[in-house]
Amino acid sequence: MNKTLFILGLTFFLLIDKSQAQSKEITIEFKGNCGLYLTDGENHIYTDFPYKSGAYNYMEYDMTTLDSLKENSHFIFTHKHADHYSKKLLKTILKQKNGQKYGVENIKELEQLSNVIDDFEIRAFKSPHKVFGISFKHYSYLIIWHGQRIFLSGDTTDTSVIAGMEHLDWAFVPYWILQNAKDQDIEIDTKMFGMYHLYPQQVPSAKENYDTVKNIRPMVEIGEKITLKTE
Ligand SMILES: [Zn+2]
Repeated sequence: MNKTLFILGLTFFLLIDKSQAQSKEITIEFKGNCGLYLTDGENHIYTDFPYKSGAYNYMEYDMTTLDSLKENSHFIFTHKHADHYSKKLLKTILKQKNGQKYGVENIKELEQLSNVIDDFEIRAFKSPHKVFGISFKHYSYLIIWHGQRIFLSGDTTDTSVIAGMEHLDWAFVPYWILQNAKDQDIEIDTKMFGMYHLYPQQVPSAKENYDTVKNIRPMVEIGEKITLKTE
């Protein structure tokens, strides 16, 4: 092979290699309530899942789905209410499939995940969560993964954390955050909203009301997927 051809071949190889490294895809699968499964094909993250199916009349899910959870996953929780978290189910899963649990008691460890997952960062923000006047420890999260900025609001009704976020690609929020932001005249800086934590009986009206709203996607069907193409 002459030198020019060799260099051309090498350049081509490098170009291909670079484009492969950059075309990471992130898939987000809805697991019910605030439960999401995020993956780039290599790393596996579950947020607010597993929860107790049907807790507080929120969504039920098929228990066999627990068998298909990935090994060595990272389980991240906003707080410990039963519609977001099941200590019992998680214990069994961690025993069977390894993995790590993160939440209100080990936020520092959670923020170290950037050392474990490639091109990944997670920032935790304490956000208020009160039920019948009682405060619960609760965090909202900003994930920056392969350049995509994904915000997980969790169960908080407070808009102050999300109001301070910039250039979000996806903000996962319950409908009351949208309502409160509207009432308080707060604009949320995101390209898309994933509206999660609906009651089963809210699903039909959410479909009707938001199907035509371009930047709000109601999370209504367990197993539905969103694909984020990174550049
Ligand atoms: Zn809660």
